[in-house]
Amino acid sequence: MEGKRERRSSQIELLRKIKEFTRGLVDDLRNGRSPVILIYRFRSYCTDFNSKCYCGSDLPCGKEVLTLCSESHVRRLDVMLRVLLIIRQLLQENKHSSKRDIYYMHPSVFLDQSAVDRALNDICVLMECSRHNLNVVSAGKGLVMGWIRFFEGERIFDCISSPNKAYPVPVHVEEVRDIISVAHFILVVEKESVFQRLANDQFCNASRCIVLTGRGYPDVPTRRFLRLLVDQLHIPAFCLVDCDPYGFDILTTYRFGSMQMAYDTKYLRVPELRWLGAFPSDAEKFYVPKHCLLSLTAEDKRRIEAMRLRCYLKSEVPEWRLELELMLQKGVKFEIEAFSARTLSFLSETYLPSKIQDELKVMHLIAESDRGKKSTLFVLEGRIPWEHCRLV
Ligand SMILES: [Zn+2]
Repeated sequence: MEGKRERRSSQIELLRKIKEFTRGLVDDLRNGRSPVILIYRFRSYCTDFNSKCYCGSDLPCGKEVLTLCSESHVRRLDVMLRVLLIIRQLLQENKHSSKRDIYYMHPSVFLDQSAVDRALNDICVLMECSRHNLNVVSAGKGLVMGWIRFFEGERIFDCISSPNKAYPVPVHVEEVRDIISVAHFILVVEKESVFQRLANDQFCNASRCIVLTGRGYPDVPTRRFLRLLVDQLHIPAFCLVDCDPYGFDILTTYRFGSMQMAYDTKYLRVPELRWLGAFPSDAEKFYVPKHCLLSLTAEDKRRIEAMRLRCYLKSEVPEWRLELELMLQKGVKFEIEAFSARTLSFLSETYLPSKIQDELKVMHLIAESDRGKKSTLFVLEGRIPWEHCRLV
């Protein structure tokens, strides 16, 4: 990740851009001109199957023009300028703040957290930077465990010394360095309850892996940390979510990014992430008891219908779309915990090893057809000896 010197110079550059932007606004007002602010819009997906789209890329899909002629624009600019002043102060003093802290600085003006969130996104687009460049960080809700050790600044995260113990995902991912891992793969799980089940079953000991959870919809640090691990460790990454529309949406957030932060998707998405389950077809294959299968609600069906139209499903993972359609066709959903209905350790001792084995076989076939990917083959054949710790 970037060093201290690079971070300082990018802060100085950002302060220069903020000054330039505000000076332009003041000049316009002083000279009697109404300021015009262009904000490019990005998106992580569309539902237009007939045209070639630029979703998830660096290219914008349109722009918004803010002027003082519209009352809603005036309010939006008011919020944005107040947030911008706070950001400037954070950068000048080299301090960090959360979105929530910012909201509580002017709650009667911001009225709602979403106004601050939108202002932060607008500022990132205007200043062509990422959220963490603004020194705005999440409180951090992700957890990690397994065969990995790293530093976040001066703080050590020595997960290897007790691989089944949960550690918080580092909030300042740009400060993560000296990653050492002997893991064979990364497993991302949707929920903390499943993460704890795996910890109790000592899954990391049995499978030599890293397990990560964003505890529901993942925050920015969890997604950036996963992106960093995949980039640096070059090991397979799998995702386990509930077999329902929310689980699928969380899976797509990890792999393709969210719509709200589409301007930053290229740094947040993980295209290498493979969907491990739970598939609608797993219910029969792994004998999920009938009482664990719940009927899809009208809202579930509406969400699935809307999700199946997303362009990235068609262009990148058509097999995921088929599973969504199967979910709709079967009309039922179930949670990952349903696998534990028969025996508590079924998930870690039967379901996951079987699914991972299947995925590795598929990846092996892909790797065989592409002889250039020797590192992948190495992992798949389980030939990483202990002493070959990866020091990145
Ligand atoms: Zn699209």
